[in-house]
Amino acid sequence: MKIAIASGKGGTGKTTVAASLAISLAANQSPPPLFLDCDVEAPNAHLFLHPALTEQREVGLPIPVVDEAKCTHCGKCAEVCQYHAIAVLGKKTLVFPELCHGCGSCTAMCPESAISEVPERLGVLERGAAMANIAFARGVLDVGQPMAVPIIRQLKKWAQPALGQVTLYDSPPGTSCPVVETLRDSDYLLLVTEPTPFGLHDLRLAAHVAGELGLPAGVIINRDNGPYPPLDEFCAQQGLPVLLRIPFERAIAEGVAQGKTLVDIHPEFSTALWNMFRQITE
Ligand code: SF4
Ligand code: SF4
Repeated sequence: MKIAIASGKGGTGKTTVAASLAISLAANQSPPPLFLDCDVEAPNAHLFLHPALTEQREVGLPIPVVDEAKCTHCGKCAEVCQYHAIAVLGKKTLVFPELCHGCGSCTAMCPESAISEVPERLGVLERGAAMANIAFARGVLDVGQPMAVPIIRQLKKWAQPALGQVTLYDSPPGTSCPVVETLRDSDYLLLVTEPTPFGLHDLRLAAHVAGELGLPAGVIINRDNGPYPPLDEFCAQQGLPVLLRIPFERAIAEGVAQGKTLVDIHPEFSTALWNMFRQITE
């Protein structure tokens, strides 16, 4: 089973929940889960799970390079590119590497074989064992690189679950392409939110993405400091079960700031998260 933990906005406690759920699953069933930190622009789950990262692999994209001596400026490459990453301007064919998805279509379509491909590094994949024998892997996008999606795609291919192993995807925040790539093959989506107008606004967006992907989803309310009827009404209208409420509490804030999971701070969260997992699977 693959569970994605996401939120419409950053800072809601998504990684705290994901890491705490991993610890709870490791304590309650075998094998311990596989944890993928898919927030490749700012991975931070290692702060909670303390993996020993023993393997590393570079990730790159094949970027087209045009041989102007062969190019007849016919424009076929620009026509086929869905991302406007190659353009023919008069007697010049230009490639914009930061827009290129490395799909290879322009190379395949060029009638003059004027395009070759040069690998360009995007970042790295890393993996190793984390605390409680959790299998941990993450992608790290190089500074200045805009393409998170290929790293997430490669991370999922590289770090496959063992038989019977639950996979947890710690998603990037927001609702853009990297989030969709993370959620794409999930079986269930946990949406972490907070009881504020801003939290509700972004939950609406995230729930819409879940609906578009046809993903069953449930909600975890973090920093719960009492009733916030608009949030409960939205969840009821959308048929989103509220699976867990995490209290707005100084001890939790201090513990998380020190890199502790919910289970470290309040051990009873191990049972609460395990019960939530069973509720999801049932
Ligand atoms: S398809 Fe090939 S020949 Fe035509 S413009 Fe592009 S690079 Fe040049
Ligand atoms: S490899 Fe694909 S995305 Fe990149 S320029 Fe060619 S057609 Fe466009």
